[in-house]
Amino acid sequence: MRIVVLPGDGIGPEIAAATSAVLRAASERFQLNVAIEEHAVGHDSLRLFGATVRPGLLEIVRAADGLILGPTATFDFKDEQSGEINPSKFFRKSLDLFANVRPARTYPGLHNRFGAFDLVVVRENTEGFYSDRNMEQGNGELLVTPDVAISLRRVTRHCCERIAKAACQLAMRRSKRLTIVHKANVLKIGDGMFLDICRATAGEFPGLAVDDILVDAMMAHVVRQPDRFDVIVSTNMFGDILSDLTAELSGSLGLGGSLNVGASHAMAQAAHGSAPDIAGRDVANPFSLILSMALLLAWHGERSGAARFESAARAIENAVAAAIGGGRATRDVGGQLGTAATGQAIVDILASNDNRPV
Ligand code: ATP
Repeated sequence: MRIVVLPGDGIGPEIAAATSAVLRAASERFQLNVAIEEHAVGHDSLRLFGATVRPGLLEIVRAADGLILGPTATFDFKDEQSGEINPSKFFRKSLDLFANVRPARTYPGLHNRFGAFDLVVVRENTEGFYSDRNMEQGNGELLVTPDVAISLRRVTRHCCERIAKAACQLAMRRSKRLTIVHKANVLKIGDGMFLDICRATAGEFPGLAVDDILVDAMMAHVVRQPDRFDVIVSTNMFGDILSDLTAELSGSLGLGGSLNVGASHAMAQAAHGSAPDIAGRDVANPFSLILSMALLLAWHGERSGAARFESAARAIENAVAAAIGGGRATRDVGGQLGTAATGQAIVDILASNDNRPV
């Protein structure tokens, strides 16, 4: 398996280094024969090549079996004409990674105020309120006068159908419960279409229990009773906001892993941003990217029929749970370790027998 690693900006290089160390350890333990290829992206790439995503990188990524993208400084990248491309948008759009799968679960030994839960947010990834991916040319945000701005949201039947199907399939593999999160009472046309298509798609999966909740009410419901939910499907921006909340409810935003999935490519990516406030201090939690990488291995295993990749993914998830339970983790999840030492703790657990399910 050839994996491209793009460390990114802010805390990206630190959590990517820890993730690569864990990937190498998993490859050795489970005989995955993973080859890691690292390239610059974001500010490093802008300095070296005059573009945050240099020409030719897409072809390298396309030819690989998977991509690990560290967080990048999206807020800094404003002018595509000057090479300031949002790498996250670029790969999601170019590889048509339409489903952003964001699991969130609590861990024994990690205090949380809202009770145990285990859910997955499935977020549409290629349109919605993300104006930089809505148009064939130009941008969906317009400044009409210096004092008037318009932001356009695109919702298409095709994108609703494929994200609804992906969420239903995942729900059928889990506890057969799906919640549709929307704002169809106000966005009657766009979210109305999304809701109708999700309901109709769910109707094609016998035994699947479906409900739907307005996105604002959802913020209260998921805090009040997170264990009520299993698979949650939503449009792009609502899913983005909701999944930061569910990651934090699970214990820390630093636990928020995700996989961006399309028909033939996948990209592991932490749910959070580049966290410039804690960059370079060896305090960032690497579990978000390590868990994302585990999702990538599981995806590859499922596609290729090689069970050892799925075993490796499970072992990494169990090792993260064991590390959290044993306090061998960063401060945000109750430990005392730095980023690199936390990655090393997972390497050590993988090398030992101490990775039983938790
Ligand atoms: P960006 O502009 O790149 O999105 P940001 O700081 O605005 O960066 P996040 O990176 O998502 O947004 O960070 C939000 C908060 O969560 C910050 O206080 C940050 O320090 C914290 N945080 C994010 N990721 C982690 C992590 N892996 N470990 C610990 N804390 C984190």
